[in-house]
Amino acid sequence: MTRRALLKKLVARSLLVLGISSSCGSEKTTTYTLAEVTSCDDLTGLPESEVAKRKQLGYVETSPIDDNICGNCQLYLPPLEDAKCGGCQLFKGPVLEKGYCTYWAPRM
Ligand code: SF4
Repeated sequence: MTRRALLKKLVARSLLVLGISSSCGSEKTTTYTLAEVTSCDDLTGLPESEVAKRKQLGYVETSPIDDNICGNCQLYLPPLEDAKCGGCQLFKGPVLEKGYCTYWAPRM
């Protein structure tokens, strides 16, 4: 199996398990999956801690730097076949291909 094929397989598996459960603090137990997201800017159902995390990382839906976008970031998780949105390895929730955060790292 090539490195690219292995990476694609790992990404696909990561997206399948992006559902999360949280039962600590004041947050209610929540299940969230990218497969159910219909709009990539809709954060409905996303735990507050994950919303805060994306803000802390400086995530924006449109990159201010033309050549540095989520779509060419090493941490980007491309959408699965039926999904509308991609994801990020650093936080839960939808990520736009044209988005950006301060942790952008060039894909090797
Ligand atoms: S690390 Fe930042 S730039 Fe990279 S995919 Fe995640 S949100 Fe996008």
